[in-house]
Amino acid sequence: MSKWNMIVDVAKCENCRNCFLATKDEHIGNDFPGYAAPQPPHGHNWIDIRVNERGSYPVVDAHAMPVMCNHCDNAPCIGPANGGAVYKRADGIVIIDPVKAKGQKQIVESCPYGAIYWNDELKLPQKWVFDAHLLDEGWTRTRAEQVCATGALKSLKIADEEMQRIVAAEGLEVLLPEKQTKPRVYYKNLQLMTRCLIGGTVVTGENAGEECVEGARITLLQHQSVIGETTSDSYGEFRFDGLAENSGQYDLVIKMNGKTEETRKVVLGDSQYVGLIQLK
Ligand code: SF4
Ligand code: SF4
Repeated sequence: MSKWNMIVDVAKCENCRNCFLATKDEHIGNDFPGYAAPQPPHGHNWIDIRVNERGSYPVVDAHAMPVMCNHCDNAPCIGPANGGAVYKRADGIVIIDPVKAKGQKQIVESCPYGAIYWNDELKLPQKWVFDAHLLDEGWTRTRAEQVCATGALKSLKIADEEMQRIVAAEGLEVLLPEKQTKPRVYYKNLQLMTRCLIGGTVVTGENAGEECVEGARITLLQHQSVIGETTSDSYGEFRFDGLAENSGQYDLVIKMNGKTEETRKVVLGDSQYVGLIQLK
C-alpha cells in the first residue's frame, strides 16, 4: 500500500516563505469540512520556517527549513484526543477532526514538534493537513511544493519499504528521532540545521590577515583520531562541518608543503570561527 511522505532538502531552502504563504492562502477564510476549519489570519504557522545561523564573519552561513506536522506513524497527538478526534488515515496522513476536536486544547500540548496551533475563536487545535483535501481530489503535489521554486520540497506516495530504501540511499533524517514518533516528513542535509562547523583563516606575513595562504593543509583531530582534512581556499579560509554541538576538544594541525607550521586547540560548544592562524 502506498502512503504519503515529504522530503525537505535543507540545502535547497532559500527561506523565501512561499510555502508558508501558500498554506495560509489555502486555509485562511476557507473551510474544508472533514479536513480543516479556517485558519485564523494571525498567529498560526502551519508551515513554520526555522532559521539557523552558524559561525561568525567571515566563516558564517545561515540555513532555513520548513517545519510542519510530520504525520507521524506513532503520533503522540492521537492518544490524548478524546472520541477519535485525531486519527491516521490509511495513506499515512494524520487528521485532526475539526468537529470532534472542538474544545480539546490538550491536543496542542501533545505534539513534541510544536506543529499544532490553538484557534482561540473556534476553540480548535489545528495543523497542516498535507493538503489531504486536495490530494483526495486527485492533486499529486501539495500547494507548498508547487510554489517552492528551488525544489526543496518533494512529496511521494510510495510503499513504506520503497521510502526506507530512499531514506538509506540519500541519508535522510527525521526531526527528534529520540521521540520515536516515526515521522513521514524526512529531511535531507539536516546537518546544516543541527550540526556545527569549525572555521578559520590561514594567513602569513608581518601584517597578519593581509596575505592569505591558499593551499595550506588542515587536519582536524579529536582524541588523536583524524576527523577530517581540508585545504585553505584563495581567501585562506577553511571549514569543517557536521560536528556535534558540545562535542569537546579538537586539535587543528596546519601544514604547508608537508611540514607542520601551526597547531590550535578548539573546545566546541556551538559553531566556531577560530580566527586568523598565522604561519611564520
Ligand atoms: S518555498 Fe521552498 S525555498 Fe521557500 S521557504 Fe519554503 S521550502 Fe524554503
Ligand atoms: S507532528 Fe505533531 S501533530 Fe503531527 S502527527 Fe506528529 S505528533 Fe501529531
